[in-house]
Amino acid sequence: MHEMSLMESVIDIACETAREHGAARVKSIRLDVGVLSHVDPSALLFCHEAVRHGTIAGEATLEINRIPGEGWCLDCGKTVALQERFGACPDCGRHRVQMTSGDELKIRDLEVI
Ligand SMILES: [Zn+2]
Repeated sequence: MHEMSLMESVIDIACETAREHGAARVKSIRLDVGVLSHVDPSALLFCHEAVRHGTIAGEATLEINRIPGEGWCLDCGKTVALQERFGACPDCGRHRVQMTSGDELKIRDLEVI
């Protein structure tokens, strides 16, 4: 389950950032998780529960912000909604769509106290 190592890194970064800012604890973490990334939000929440213990993020809440899939269709020359990684363009039906959003996994912001 790669969500476990992902959450370990997120908690590491959160704790490090809190310390850099002279904060005692991490209060909340907000993540941007693209719908096209191969990351399961419920697994992330489960792993968050497991890895936060014993750190200064031990009480931190986790909020997951889902980012919709988007791509650039080379044939239509515009941004279109993308339902799957190598999905077809909803307008022209061709597969020359470059994913521009929906693949991310990053920390949007942190609250430290
Ligand atoms: Zn198209």
